[in-house]
Amino acid sequence: MNNQSSDLDVVVIGAGFAGLTAARSLAKAGVSVVVLEADDRVGGRSMAGSIAGHVVDRGGQWVGPTQHHLLGLAEELGVKTYPQYVEGDHIMDIAGREARYKEGEDLPLEPADVAELNRVMGELDALTGKIDAAAPWTAEDADALDAQTFESWLLSATASEPARSVFRVIAQVVFCGRAGQLSLLNLLTYAAASGGIVHMISSRGGSQDSLFVGGAWQLAAKMAEGLGDAVVVNAPVRSIAQTDDGVTVTSDVGVWTAALAVVTAAPPMAARISYFPPMPPGRDSLTQRMPMGSIIKVHVAYETPFWRARGLSGSILSDRTVTGMWIDLSLAAEGGLVGFFAGGHAQAWADRSPEDRRARVLDDLATYLGPEATTPIDYIDEVWSARPWQRGAYMSVPGPGLLTSFGPALREPVGRIHWAGTETADVSMGYLDGAIQSGKRVAHDCIKRLRP
Ligand SMILES: Cc1cc2nc3c(=O)[nH]c(=O)nc-3n(C[C@H](O)[C@H](O)[C@H](O)COP(=O)(O)OP(=O)(O)OC[C@H]3O[C@@H](n4cnc5c(N)ncnc54)[C@H](O)[C@@H]3O)c2cc1C
Repeated sequence: MNNQSSDLDVVVIGAGFAGLTAARSLAKAGVSVVVLEADDRVGGRSMAGSIAGHVVDRGGQWVGPTQHHLLGLAEELGVKTYPQYVEGDHIMDIAGREARYKEGEDLPLEPADVAELNRVMGELDALTGKIDAAAPWTAEDADALDAQTFESWLLSATASEPARSVFRVIAQVVFCGRAGQLSLLNLLTYAAASGGIVHMISSRGGSQDSLFVGGAWQLAAKMAEGLGDAVVVNAPVRSIAQTDDGVTVTSDVGVWTAALAVVTAAPPMAARISYFPPMPPGRDSLTQRMPMGSIIKVHVAYETPFWRARGLSGSILSDRTVTGMWIDLSLAAEGGLVGFFAGGHAQAWADRSPEDRRARVLDDLATYLGPEATTPIDYIDEVWSARPWQRGAYMSVPGPGLLTSFGPALREPVGRIHWAGTETADVSMGYLDGAIQSGKRVAHDCIKRLRP
């Protein structure tokens, strides 16, 4: 063991977008800081992958035009964006009806179901408008909204089975859980922090508007490069002890002392660290009730983007197949598709073999793109719930009753320990943009405390 002990101002736990942003802001202000990362790489829920000789994102990848923290970071670090391919027809197969439609058009359901979908979306937007994303527990009807799941609300909001199906698929691909596992208040909070539900699920102008040339993972790599020796990987933090004088952070590779600690691991991962004295009941109760979402991200590469020649965009939204969402991610001359086993499907398929998942994926794609889909040149998937230091994604998702009972404990420091990470953001929570915002906020809080 390489024991280290240094009187620092701040020890940051976790080298994802939140931790690296916090450390950069602190270092820029002349605050001494070290970042301890459990994994053998930086980036956290953002991670590089390789398929057919191209580098892709196994984790977070898209950026929307209102995600100013993320766009600003990319500009600063010289990483460019390019628009998501949406030319041609999208395929939707919901509630037994398969049809094509174009980006920006109404979903191809029966007119009565479209009207119902839009009415329910309007109702959700109106509810979203009442929520302060920084403190959803203060909303007038917070208790009632938090006492029901999105599924139970849907059952009373509409009798249209196709409209319900669309919302269930949204819950799956956006929250990586079943609609019945999601608090309605939580769904509205995320929507309020991200410009509304339509924005969250849209490509053009929405959260899936653009991608980073070379991948989003580079932003973490570049931030870490700038921090140099201040970032220590392979350093799982096992305990944080605090006294009136400071914190002692013990990892597998050493012990660091500092005035303050910043924990950026997602709430359920932060709960795996031992705290001395133990966390107060509110904070511990919160972290007991915020499981990570379930997602398996899949990339499939083909010799050519053969669907484009048939007038298809590569976007598929389905409640018939296991992999419910696909989008074109073609690089250079090769064709590429990125898709997901999401929510309940990710829960069911995480323990299966990669060969089983590959066979399922190719079968699903052949349903909509024909037999050519069964002969890819490469395939990769990433089971996020299997990653030992992240154990799920995109974010940890509060169930009913959590936000109104323990919500303030998300951000409230406990003595000398401050909290960051995308779950603590009040803009774009769950996204890379939110992680960056939380890192800036926590750095500001620490600087204020160190230099009153
Ligand atoms: C498949 C997938 C697709 C996604 N798609 C998008 C997208 O398109 N656009 C978007 O904006 N966002 C997307 N996201 C979400 C986005 O990646 C996350 O919101 C963001 O990366 C979270 O950053 P963070 O710093 O808050 O947390 P993390 O990245 O989880 O960072 C926390 C770090 O703490 C480390 N850690 C945990 N425990 C310890 C410990 N005991 N000691 C030391 N270190 C520890 C972890 O290893 C991790 O590196 C996606 C995520 C996934 C996985």
